[in-house]
Amino acid sequence: MKLFTMKFGGTSVGSPEAIRQVVDIVQGTLETGDRVIVIVSAMSRVTDSLIDAARKAASGNKWGYLSTAEALRERHIETLQALVPEGDDRDRTAAQVNALIDDYVSVCNAINILGELTPRILDSIVSFGERLSSRVIAAAMRARSIQGQQYDAGQFVITDDSYQSANLLWNLTEANIHNHLLPALENGVTPVITGFIGQTRDGVVTTLGRGGSDYSGAIFAVASDSDELIIWTDVDGVMTTDPRIDKRARVLPYVSYTEVGELAFYGAKVLHPKTVQPILDKEIPLRVRNTFNPAFEGTLIGPNSTPSATVVKAVTAVRNVGLLTVSGRGMIGVPGIAGRAFLTTAKAGANILMISQASSEQSFCFVVMDDRSYAVKTAIEQEFEEEIAQRNIDQIELLDDVVIITVVGSGMRGTPGIAGRVFTVMGTQQINVIAIAQGASECSISFVIDEANLEQAVIALHELALEAVQPA
Ligand code: ADP
Ligand code: ASP
Ligand code: MG
Repeated sequence: MKLFTMKFGGTSVGSPEAIRQVVDIVQGTLETGDRVIVIVSAMSRVTDSLIDAARKAASGNKWGYLSTAEALRERHIETLQALVPEGDDRDRTAAQVNALIDDYVSVCNAINILGELTPRILDSIVSFGERLSSRVIAAAMRARSIQGQQYDAGQFVITDDSYQSANLLWNLTEANIHNHLLPALENGVTPVITGFIGQTRDGVVTTLGRGGSDYSGAIFAVASDSDELIIWTDVDGVMTTDPRIDKRARVLPYVSYTEVGELAFYGAKVLHPKTVQPILDKEIPLRVRNTFNPAFEGTLIGPNSTPSATVVKAVTAVRNVGLLTVSGRGMIGVPGIAGRAFLTTAKAGANILMISQASSEQSFCFVVMDDRSYAVKTAIEQEFEEEIAQRNIDQIELLDDVVIITVVGSGMRGTPGIAGRVFTVMGTQQINVIAIAQGASECSISFVIDEANLEQAVIALHELALEAVQPA
């Protein structure tokens, strides 16, 4: 008997037909005698619409959030009715859906009155998506004779109070899952748990960041010592590039933890970047599979790096970033400038995605997400106020219509000439490369280009990855 943790994403639970697929997959697994912990996302587009409506509430648009609430009510009730026959269970679940929507409206009313939307309130707002979907899905399981039981993840997943991207408190979380979830599983229950959501020690709702249900899946897989974590999504697996950018994208049969970590960090939306963190130590096999093509085995992700044929495995892009450059002749030989700049960046609440320094020590540059880039620029200018006044450091430069392009593949380590090939491609395409960095793992090369060249660059580099995929 095996234990699987299965996470189903937004499209996979986005309609009654999709949820039927989900129930089929879970039922098929249970019928072979295995057990399943189910983690679910909100129905497709729900998280976005909750955020949008909360912003409307803060700006005084009462009609805006009331109409969103009614649309959500209708969608969930109609989905429930399509999946669960008339009866007590359907009535009870419908009452829960209605109560949640009413609570949501109350929170929006409060935002509307205060005219303010704090990160803490926003986490409470977005949690409604998963709280709604999980109840409907658990009822759909029960309608098919599975002992489905809904859980809000907050009772297990304990985090700090960094709202919108909370950090996990592992020991408390693991103990909760051991003490309160595993016994139910032993009793034949199939838990249906909200992804994305956690709770502080004081019981305040937090979230793990956009797309964070994948990370929830990993947390539950590790704490329950699952035999496998399966991320069920709307594509056949991890692909050579985003199929929305290049239709020629192909599924990679095997990717290592390190490679997928780089891919996810540098923009492959198919997995949340934190997903591999918890599973690394226990080396739990991770699969990415397509809910709508369950016969296909998808991508397996594991500890080993790969056969040498696949040098460049995949190409990714990160949009909405800003490149900051700190330069000045007075920087040469002065220790600590970079350290101060990075510390200031962290204090301004920004993560650094990429760093590059020219050997002359006259300048270095780094990339942060757009939403913090201006704040970082201002903070660094303050930090170096004196140096700037003395003209030892120039004004901090911010380029914000740029993107990061990354090529990933563990075969790049020790294979000479890969960087050369990558930049020859950029040269042939006449695309200007603004900054370059290579990860210490030598499993990726990242560089910054103008946003306008994104598609052209990805499509041209993707050729290198397609060459490497062995035809079946
Ligand atoms: P879910 O709702 O199931 O979590 P997401 O939309 O978050 O699904 O992620 C799946 C999407 O990721 C795919 O539909 C695809 O467009 C996009 N994607 C981007 N890069 C890749 C890649 N390298 N491989 C597969 N999918 C990718
Ligand atoms: N529903 C959340 C989001 O859209 C989490 C997830 O789907 O992973 O970001
Ligand atoms: Mg996702």
